[in-house]
Amino acid sequence: MQELLTFDYFIEPSRQGTYFLLPFDMPADVEMLTLSYDYPRHDENEMGMGSAAFTARQEINIIDLGLVAPDGSQVGASGSDKREISVSEVAASPGYRATPLVPGKWQILVGAYKVAPDGVPVAYQLTFDFKDRRLFKGDLHVHTVASDGVSTVEELAWRAKRHELDFLAITDHNQTVSQDALPKIPGLTLIPGVEWTHYQGHANFLGVDRPYDGSFAANTPEEIQARFASARQRGAHITLNHPFDETCGFNLDWQTLPFDSLEIWNGPMRESNLKAVGFWQSLLAAGRKIPICGGSDYHRDTPFLFLGGPTTCVYAMSPGPSDILAALKDGHAYITFAPDGPWVELTAGEAILGDTVAWSDVKELDILAGGLLKGDVVRVVTGSSSAVIVQAPSAGQVQATYTLEAPGFARLEILRAFIPGLPLLPALISNPIYFEAG
Ligand SMILES: [Zn+2]
Ligand SMILES: [Zn+2]
Repeated sequence: MQELLTFDYFIEPSRQGTYFLLPFDMPADVEMLTLSYDYPRHDENEMGMGSAAFTARQEINIIDLGLVAPDGSQVGASGSDKREISVSEVAASPGYRATPLVPGKWQILVGAYKVAPDGVPVAYQLTFDFKDRRLFKGDLHVHTVASDGVSTVEELAWRAKRHELDFLAITDHNQTVSQDALPKIPGLTLIPGVEWTHYQGHANFLGVDRPYDGSFAANTPEEIQARFASARQRGAHITLNHPFDETCGFNLDWQTLPFDSLEIWNGPMRESNLKAVGFWQSLLAAGRKIPICGGSDYHRDTPFLFLGGPTTCVYAMSPGPSDILAALKDGHAYITFAPDGPWVELTAGEAILGDTVAWSDVKELDILAGGLLKGDVVRVVTGSSSAVIVQAPSAGQVQATYTLEAPGFARLEILRAFIPGLPLLPALISNPIYFEAG
């Protein structure tokens, strides 16, 4: 959805040589602002010169443009060079900085460098593009040369673009990267983060520049608590990582620590991830609502390890880091083994993945799953059952409805024979939709 605001502003010649501000209201939920302006720049005079006609062109007005955020900070300034600029949380025209478009009083910065003797009318146009829920694909767990990876952030970012990922969280061991230090790559959202790495467990703190003061190091349960509490208080999205990893599982008391999602899928699908899925399933069956996430834990290419393996697919309101992480926290996500892996749309009435519906109102789960290969098994898992919807007779997609017999939750898995003859493994795991009794 888009909204336009246009207005004319007349600048008197007496204001030549001064700067001033024109306020406007930024509505809520704007994803991108486009600001353009126009005014008579030149005076053209035609004069006869014998057999020729010469047109003299003289710059009579020069009006400069800039933008100021509600906190008074300069978002950008472009002199009279650009007739149109745009700003969003993840991208901006050169000379402007990407910044969240918080609702409130914004201001156009006007510089009246040169004004004609009879003044100048300036026509401003503001275009507000509103947020809109859609699917973004990304990898939430990667390492760079700043810890034990072999690639720089830039190298990983361009590789993520080639893999058609929309976002990438940078999670070096105990090294925080701030938002300002991340490169700006068009079409790719880079999320600042850190993998808080302790001998007893790893956790990602995502989306904030400094989740805690001082160092990561913590010995006592109280010190560990304090790191998590600080990260939570500063708005970080906290994920508990690879809880059953062969060498660095999560051995801290997770019940005492705040977290937003559980990394049930870390790198290639294997025994430790299957254990994490089983653990998550037992929590769901006990009535907990716990969102999942996945990440490649990419350090370098190995035969089974690649960027986007797995890919977390998130239904977010915009590609901004805060919207992606908010959607992750709300469970609006599924995990697929690769950027081009199978996909799913799971709804129950108006509800999407992660939502809760009243079982008295809605009992049907609507399934549309695609990117299937011959032999793929699509199944719905609830607290007490696992029902095969289809074993794909060929490549393609399936549409189906599953009716719940009792309140609880329902989630979807797609299983695939990655290696012929070996047991099927998950190619996709979705968050549940919750069906609440009462
Ligand atoms: Zn780790
Ligand atoms: Zn890691």
